[in-house]
Amino acid sequence: MDVPIVNTDVVIVGSGLAGCAAAREIKKAGKDVIVLTKLHPLRSHSGAAQGGVNAALSEDDDIELHMFDTVKGSDYLADQDAVELMCSKAPETIRWIEHMGAAFSRRPDGRIAQRPFGGQSRPRACFAKDRTGLTLLQTIFEQADREGVQFWDEWYVADILYEDGKAYGVVAYDLRDMKPTIFNAKAVMFATGGYARAFKINSNAHANTGDGLSIFARHGLPLEDMEFVQFHPSGLAGSGILISEAARGEGGKLYNSEGERFMEKYAPEKMELAPRDVVARAIMNEIREGRGVGPDKMAVYLDLTHLGEEKIMERLPELRDLAITFLGQDMVKEPIMITVTAHYSMGGIPVNIDGRVKKSPKELTEGLYAAGECACVSVHGANRLGANSLLDALFFGRHVGEAIVRDLESGIELRKASSEEAQGMLDEIAFIMNNNGKETTAGLRQELQDSMFENCGVFRTEESLQKQKEILKRLRKRFKNIRIDDKSKTFNTDLQEAIELGHMLDFSAFIVEGAIARKESRGAHYREDYPNRDDKNFLKHTFAYMDEEGNISLEYGDVVIGKFKPQERKY
Ligand SMILES: Cc1cc2nc3c(=O)[nH]c(=O)nc-3n(C[C@H](O)[C@H](O)[C@H](O)COP(=O)(O)OP(=O)(O)OC[C@H]3O[C@@H](n4cnc5c(N)ncnc54)[C@H](O)[C@@H]3O)c2cc1C
Repeated sequence: MDVPIVNTDVVIVGSGLAGCAAAREIKKAGKDVIVLTKLHPLRSHSGAAQGGVNAALSEDDDIELHMFDTVKGSDYLADQDAVELMCSKAPETIRWIEHMGAAFSRRPDGRIAQRPFGGQSRPRACFAKDRTGLTLLQTIFEQADREGVQFWDEWYVADILYEDGKAYGVVAYDLRDMKPTIFNAKAVMFATGGYARAFKINSNAHANTGDGLSIFARHGLPLEDMEFVQFHPSGLAGSGILISEAARGEGGKLYNSEGERFMEKYAPEKMELAPRDVVARAIMNEIREGRGVGPDKMAVYLDLTHLGEEKIMERLPELRDLAITFLGQDMVKEPIMITVTAHYSMGGIPVNIDGRVKKSPKELTEGLYAAGECACVSVHGANRLGANSLLDALFFGRHVGEAIVRDLESGIELRKASSEEAQGMLDEIAFIMNNNGKETTAGLRQELQDSMFENCGVFRTEESLQKQKEILKRLRKRFKNIRIDDKSKTFNTDLQEAIELGHMLDFSAFIVEGAIARKESRGAHYREDYPNRDDKNFLKHTFAYMDEEGNISLEYGDVVIGKFKPQERKY
């Protein structure tokens, strides 16, 4: 098949904060850039972020304190050079986006308002009511559009052109009519976002299926620290839809079925504003010990009634709406039921401080970049603090865009692509379209999500993880026997969902394998059989590789320690 080839300087996959910020910088510097996205840019998950974005702006705050909180929150696994860069550039990043039009909520004196978030020593999260992500995304998308960035939306990227350590494009198809195209570029950047959809209860958009990670892994590239999956303490009971940490930041209190404010037992000082890993475990522990609430006793209460209607409508209007719509509970009048929900992925595509993708702990690829939630730079280590991720996506998106411009100017050669290089994607599509097995995407996905939540969730053991490893093996085998009903070429969501399921099966194996090998508890990774952190053996980053049969092998990389030496973490 003669597949068309489009040439450009840079191709970016993903149009959330990271992709848009990079694209704007690149286009502004006079380079051609195409952004491919399976959604309309404004539907990227960045737009769902509610609570805030961190920067040490206020009189009594400073950058070093932001760095310290981030490193401590990460359970000392974050790379401190990357943390220092991000935190020191945070105030400038906020001013940059504000001057481009992002309307933040204000203090009475007119300065940008900041709210407290878990694990932060000062109120540091800048916010726009509880629609922070949407405000930021609209601003950066408009600015990228204004510069003339080409957005190709509703294009599905299924493969990269990558050989001998060098990337030179991507292969994608148009969701409208399934027409394939090769995008041949000097530089390729992935900003494909998070991937908590592999878990039954999660806060993520349906699109967050981790495509970028598996696309890389299938070319033998490593994924880093995949075992660290953040479970957010407050998703709506049942659905897991997020109730932002802003709710606890504004003063929300947690109660169990006995009416106890149970955080007193787990984090007497920080209480509800301890980091997410600590609060999530506390909630799960209350539930496991029979003090849960709700019909299946799988939730706890979040009480905001003492804030009053005026404050709730001023600060948390979206959250109130969500709880009324999906739970029938009005937080102005009664406590709402919440439960732990899979939310964020600390691990991902390993990159250096300029977003260049690593092919091993010490070697870099050429022409290949990543930023935002799909990347692991690693500023979040074993546990991300709330409101640090919008900062990560916005700051590193821009920073990596600038790095790409520098690299282009120092002369990256374009390796020419040929039509045949789309064959991998065409084979994958043909297999799914023509296969006549008996397995359905929905059925396999349900089993994957249920079992990942059960066996590789907040609490993990050798036994649960080994069990999950076997389940994943069986699911991968059964995937070969998949069948889709829609055989048409127009917006074939059956096909897309099957491809996405394939991605989820692949990257889940990395999560499980990393978790089996990490025989310690650190941040979001909690092993009941190894409840303590073990710096002697595990103060290191996991690098995992997949072979053609889907087997995973591991090696480890060093953590960059700076001025903050690992200490015991108390809240
Ligand atoms: C409900 C919720 C609330 C949150 N609240 C906060 C908060 O208050 N503060 C904070 O700091 N963080 C928050 N986060 C986390 C934060 O929003 C994300 O980590 C961040 O926005 C990710 O940005 P991104 O640019 O990396 O990816 P995203 O915004 O997720 O964008 C991913 C992009 O990749 C594209 N894409 C993916 N796969 C493909 C493919 N195969 N082909 C083509 N395109 C593809 C998508 O179309 C999309 O444009 C929240 C997250 C959630 C889920």
